[in-house]
Amino acid sequence: MKVLFAVSECGPFAKSGGLADVAGSLPKELKSLGTDVRVILPKYGTIADQYKKKMKKIKEFTVDVGWRKQYCGIEELIHQGITYYFVDNEYYFKREGLYGYFDDGERFAFFSRAVLETLKELDYFPNILHCHDWHTAMIPYLLRADYYRRTGYGSIRTIFTIHNLQFQGIFPREVLKDLLGLDESYFHPGHLEFFGNVNFMKGALVAADKITIVSPTYKQEIQTPEFGEKLDGLLRARNEDLVGILNGIDDDFYDPSKDPFIFQNYSIHNIGKKAANKREIQKQFGLKQSASTPLMVMISRLTRQKGIDLIKCVFREILQEDIQLIFLGAGDYEYEEYLRQAARIYPEKLRVYTGFNEELAHKLYAAADLFLMPSLFEPCGLGQLIAMKYGAIPIVRETGGLNDTVKSWNEFTKEGNGFSFKHFNAHDMLYTIRRALSFYHNKKTWGLIVKQAMEKDYSWAQSAFYYNQLYSEVIARSETHVF
Ligand code: ADP
Repeated sequence: MKVLFAVSECGPFAKSGGLADVAGSLPKELKSLGTDVRVILPKYGTIADQYKKKMKKIKEFTVDVGWRKQYCGIEELIHQGITYYFVDNEYYFKREGLYGYFDDGERFAFFSRAVLETLKELDYFPNILHCHDWHTAMIPYLLRADYYRRTGYGSIRTIFTIHNLQFQGIFPREVLKDLLGLDESYFHPGHLEFFGNVNFMKGALVAADKITIVSPTYKQEIQTPEFGEKLDGLLRARNEDLVGILNGIDDDFYDPSKDPFIFQNYSIHNIGKKAANKREIQKQFGLKQSASTPLMVMISRLTRQKGIDLIKCVFREILQEDIQLIFLGAGDYEYEEYLRQAARIYPEKLRVYTGFNEELAHKLYAAADLFLMPSLFEPCGLGQLIAMKYGAIPIVRETGGLNDTVKSWNEFTKEGNGFSFKHFNAHDMLYTIRRALSFYHNKKTWGLIVKQAMEKDYSWAQSAFYYNQLYSEVIARSETHVF
């Protein structure tokens, strides 16, 4: 079984969030099940030199982007047994960041066609093209609208995974012809038209053979107007092709017993050693070095999705508790600035690091007692999984994957691996934080919660098995999904 992952970010090469974690770890697990998985992604300017140096140019050709003919180089790198193809075009991808540019529509229209052209150029036609989020959503669509009839392409089946429905890639009508090279007949509510614009994500939801969603709860949620981002009707119409498969995490990369980034390695068997990580972080951040003060961290993109508004509402009340708080995050200027100012007001208890820092993230997971993730919505969420693996107890809102992975502590049955609240309400969150703190000083109880959090299996093993099953099922179909 040959599977090609097309993604816009992939660890360890380029990362802005959880998608890179998934693309960086799921292929390895699938490979261990015997699947031939390769990955194709843009060759960003930000990729570390250590990787760039090892890439080998294997093809050069041009790609049509509407009326333009753009250069496309394919560079190959084999890393940890997986073949990666990097799509090289410095005009589109040699920039400071991954996304957020005025021409993202053009960049990923180029990337989508480049991926499809690469198959012919390399004479490599996978059984499954597995695409992820809006940046690669036009690939299944272009395959069905155009490439399907060409030699080699007819038997390819497509899987599209929704990691976040909020980002859809919506552009003006003109992009249809100007960037995608498609005629006006595709500007139709049953196809790419979306409230007068063109919606890339919709292309995949219309064209892909199967659509996977990164948690069973999010799969249900996105079929409602509340979470459906105006695509809930289409998702309900494709209900039979929706599959919820929970994300896992890379067991090797996120392992406190051998993590090279953290101050002191530890495991469930010598959990006492975790304390050294807290002590060092307190020192590094200039906080009082107190073993008994609970340290709560948040490591997150700073956007509305992540529930920062709840924190803003009750920040003073949280900081009145005997607690230390560290934020590591990057995102909307408004939230970054708010947190920076708050750090000036509460120098005794609060520290804020704005920016993206993988190494610091690991150090904080290892140091933390509590991990705050009060999301408005959360397709799967990896932060809480990593936190639990490091014995940092998550406090989450019961939405999406948070609902599927965190079981709130029940003092009567002694079950649970975290704390949760149902409604997107600041005082419910505050109550839950206080509830968690009320158990923190009871060593026996806290030890049990930490044990239950650390012992759970967050690896890809089970989910990779489900993906493999789905691939086989889709390949076995004689007909592709007809739109
Ligand atoms: P999302 O994909 O919505 O951003 P996830 O919880 O699925 O959220 O994944 C977030 C990933 O990005 C985790 O690996 C988390 O540790 C990491 N991360 C988020 N913000 C930062 C940051 N500022 N610095 C380092 N790592 C971060």
